[in-house]
Amino acid sequence: MRWLPVLPAETGEEFSREGQPGDAPAGEGLLSEGACDEHSVRADVEAAAGAGIDRRVYFEVFGCQMNKLDAELMLGVLNENGYQLTDHPSSAGVILYNTCAIREQAENRFFSKLGHLKKLKGERPDLVIGVLGCGAQNHQHDIFRRYPHVGIVCGPGEFLRLPQLIDEARSQGQVAALDLDTPVRFERKENLGPRPRHAFVSVMRGCDMACTYCVVPRTRGPEVSRPVNEIIEEATVLAASGVKEITLLGQTVNSYGKRLAPGRRIGLQHVLYGLNQIDGLERIHFITSHPRFMNPDLIEAIGSLEKVCEYLHLPVQSGSDTVLRRMLRSYTMDHYRKVIDQCREQVPGIALATDLIVGFCGETDEEFAETVKLVEEVRFNGAYIFKYSERPGTSAAADLQDDVPEEVKRERNQVLLGIQKRISLEANSESIGQETEVLVESLSKKDKTRWSGRNRKHQIVVFPSQGDEDLVGDLVTVKVTEVTPVVLVGERPGKGS
Ligand code: SF4
Repeated sequence: MRWLPVLPAETGEEFSREGQPGDAPAGEGLLSEGACDEHSVRADVEAAAGAGIDRRVYFEVFGCQMNKLDAELMLGVLNENGYQLTDHPSSAGVILYNTCAIREQAENRFFSKLGHLKKLKGERPDLVIGVLGCGAQNHQHDIFRRYPHVGIVCGPGEFLRLPQLIDEARSQGQVAALDLDTPVRFERKENLGPRPRHAFVSVMRGCDMACTYCVVPRTRGPEVSRPVNEIIEEATVLAASGVKEITLLGQTVNSYGKRLAPGRRIGLQHVLYGLNQIDGLERIHFITSHPRFMNPDLIEAIGSLEKVCEYLHLPVQSGSDTVLRRMLRSYTMDHYRKVIDQCREQVPGIALATDLIVGFCGETDEEFAETVKLVEEVRFNGAYIFKYSERPGTSAAADLQDDVPEEVKRERNQVLLGIQKRISLEANSESIGQETEVLVESLSKKDKTRWSGRNRKHQIVVFPSQGDEDLVGDLVTVKVTEVTPVVLVGERPGKGS
């Protein structure tokens, strides 16, 4: 059962997003979805004809890739218990939202949606409405009070109990499940994601860091890594089922391995070496890395393993040491620049993406100028640029003043956006005339006469479709003929246009 609709690779071509990323794994490419994008991905229709209404689920997912993978795991467990998806709330006996706490605007839109369900619940008292994920964890004390028609509040630690929680909500009215210490079972029996040849695989959960703007440690708990062999086994099963590309997910994916084997240093590179051996698997990515945990062993693995792609998403957040200190990011610009240099030395042609927050508490013109300088100097291939917005439950909200005026945030956002667009266009232009290997994802959303996919540097590539050919999941060579800041346009050699 495939359930999330295929999002064409060029979905969301913005460079700029509001809110702050919280290092949540970024979207699917250099310039597409933000670290916590505002797209609400609606569950696709799985004909629910055979199921009674109490077993029909309407499901929406908000936020980062981690949330989308959690949604896959939830769907797997619901499926095992006889639930089927439906495409409209009015035909569902259970309505579930897997929420995100990172972005204020997305959160407001979600709460407005939740308010509108009150009428439906009034008409159908048996309806179970569940709020899941980081938003549920972060607003656990408010949801039942503000939305008494909600039956389930369930954080990211307990979602595998969903079938039981639905039963309890039916018999008791309301049930909360917010324990973050319950071990989460990661593996699924099949890839339920939107792209048949691509799968996300979680290597860890939670985060041990304390960035002052971020709610993640509060909503997902401390870091827990999966054993290496368990990850390799899951990836082997996925590859055997036809998956060609795997993206490893973790809040700070490159700190992977902590506490796994006392006395031994286990790192993400051990996972990469294992995955590189798997037959059928062609490409490996990992998101999102923390600058503090980039280390020579990992960089060497990226450079030397042929299946590990030449792409690194390394959120810097600010180019100013003083702002980084207020954010408690635990690295300096000196360290960040050294890491970038090492990556470029050891991984020739590596594409670098970053996240930037403008207008963080107390950010002066001089501090912002340091960010501009960094962007000009590093020349990232892509950047997700966020205007800071205060999030409840963070230490910045408690201890720092959100004192940069909105118009200044907007202006800084525009300045960085303009610079990054120019740099991305210049970088992409270097590809003109070159051939690039593309994993085809779907027909282009904007132009159904073109295929859309990504190359190893995670750049979006579109090229003409011909006749009835179905290239979804194929690796094809495309010669780049023109570019925009976010898309490479080309044609297959020998196929014409
Ligand atoms: S606290 Fe963790 S998840 Fe949040 S921004 Fe910092 S490193 Fe990323």
